[in-house]
Amino acid sequence: MAKTSGKKRSSSKNNPTKIISLIIGLIIIGAVVIFGGAELGGLNTSIPLNTSTPSSSLIDEAGALSMYVIDIGQGDAILLAKDGKYALIDAGESMSPGERESRTAIFTCLDSLGVKNLEFLLITHQDYDHIGSAKDVLSTYNVGIVYDNGVEHTSATYEKLMQYILDENISYEVVRDGDLISSPWSEVKIDVLSPPQNLIMSGSSPDINENSIVLEITYDTVSYILAGDAEDKAESYILSTGTSIDADILKAGHHGSSSSSTDAFLKAVSPGVIVLSVGAGNSYGHPHIEALTRYAEYSEFIYRTDLDGDVVVTTDGSLYSVYTENEHFPNTILVSGDGVHV
Ligand SMILES: [Zn+2]
Repeated sequence: MAKTSGKKRSSSKNNPTKIISLIIGLIIIGAVVIFGGAELGGLNTSIPLNTSTPSSSLIDEAGALSMYVIDIGQGDAILLAKDGKYALIDAGESMSPGERESRTAIFTCLDSLGVKNLEFLLITHQDYDHIGSAKDVLSTYNVGIVYDNGVEHTSATYEKLMQYILDENISYEVVRDGDLISSPWSEVKIDVLSPPQNLIMSGSSPDINENSIVLEITYDTVSYILAGDAEDKAESYILSTGTSIDADILKAGHHGSSSSSTDAFLKAVSPGVIVLSVGAGNSYGHPHIEALTRYAEYSEFIYRTDLDGDVVVTTDGSLYSVYTENEHFPNTILVSGDGVHV
């Protein structure tokens, strides 16, 4: 496993001063080990930065912030965990009835961690692969507040979800660029980068994917960008605001679609690690070969739920590690959803 050293957070991949304070911990462990908090087993191939000893599990460290990109098939469900407090970004369910394992996957993950309360549930946008399990999440766990982008949407799933929030008197707030999300963790900052306050239009109505809530989550010197299903217009908007989006971990937009992750955006983020939430054998051909090719120009560490299973990126605010449910094979990571090898 390659390693980099030095200072992190430079804006260009080619900048020789760029150094990512990085542990890529490629630890191959079963989900039961990840989620059960048991002693780590299996093969540990992690190589921490600036040391010669294998990485210990950051996941179990007090103070560690973990992002669980749960393998729900074609959709998103991302759990943030730190110090026994949890928050969920999206609670999707696969559009394909034959692949509706997501409900099980989300609940299995949360239950195995002992989650009872979610500080918040944030819905990036209204598509079924991001909200299909949201009502069940609300009825199962105590959720402090639901965040949403406030785009009107008339799907039965979304309307039932909104009605449930009303009926149950669950706190609800619309957030867009510039609005605040109250972080459950004082050391962790959660910024909303998009959508713009006046939304991105597609004809006369707001574009559903482009108005995804895009978050930047920062813990000391390590930051994550979670792009929902944002595509090139949203990325252009974010870049136009001039906000620094240089980050360590990118949850790439729209399941590896070629319409997301433009060169300009990837360059500005300059991610150390890119994670895709994408369903094996999905009907969209995600991830697209064009997107994979672009990712590879900006990061050699690409993880995807269709191959890696659950992907967990954990940080202590200084270093970070990546854990995968399945064995991670870097050599086959650039195979598109259409089966094309880059
Ligand atoms: Zn989606």
